[in-house]
Amino acid sequence: MIIYGTKSVHLKTQQPPTLVCPSCASQGTTAISVFRKHAHIFWIPLFPIGKKGISQCQHCSMVLWAKEMPEQIKRACFNLKKESKGPLWQFSGLVLIGIFIVFSIYANGEDKKRELEYLKAPQIGDVYEFKIKTGGYSTLKVVNVTNDSVYVSPNEYEINKISKIYRIDKPENYSDIVYGISNKQIQLMYNTGEIFDINR
Ligand SMILES: [Zn+2]
Repeated sequence: MIIYGTKSVHLKTQQPPTLVCPSCASQGTTAISVFRKHAHIFWIPLFPIGKKGISQCQHCSMVLWAKEMPEQIKRACFNLKKESKGPLWQFSGLVLIGIFIVFSIYANGEDKKRELEYLKAPQIGDVYEFKIKTGGYSTLKVVNVTNDSVYVSPNEYEINKISKIYRIDKPENYSDIVYGISNKQIQLMYNTGEIFDINR
């Protein structure tokens, strides 16, 4: 269950001496307050939605929303809205999402860098995850390395879901058959995306 909604935060209240209450005609008794609403999800504020002004006469308790305000109060309310700044924490969720995106991009870049190093200097035990041309995914395990080639043992299993490929990467799943692939060919398979991940 996702819990979400909106919440209002009080920003500022002012009681200008010139305002006249339309209900009891007292002067200087009308206080105007400005609130800013924000959307939240699991109580984490995401982003502000907008500001709202409300007035209340301290003498007769008459409450007015922006639409009901006479021109004089409306203008004072508008000005107060303009000068009240909402707190930055109302953006917390957006900031968190931003940090998450930046981190993901960084982590992905680091991952690619590591894979390029694995390609340049393969080691026994490296596992190449690859797409099968007819569909599905499987792995190859490096069992020997020479100057210009790697010798791999194919996985006897394949799997349809790319995210579940780790399930078939078990020592007992690898065949006794071993064949060589040139480093150039491996690099080409990686460049074309046929090999899409390397685990060490
Ligand atoms: Zn009043």
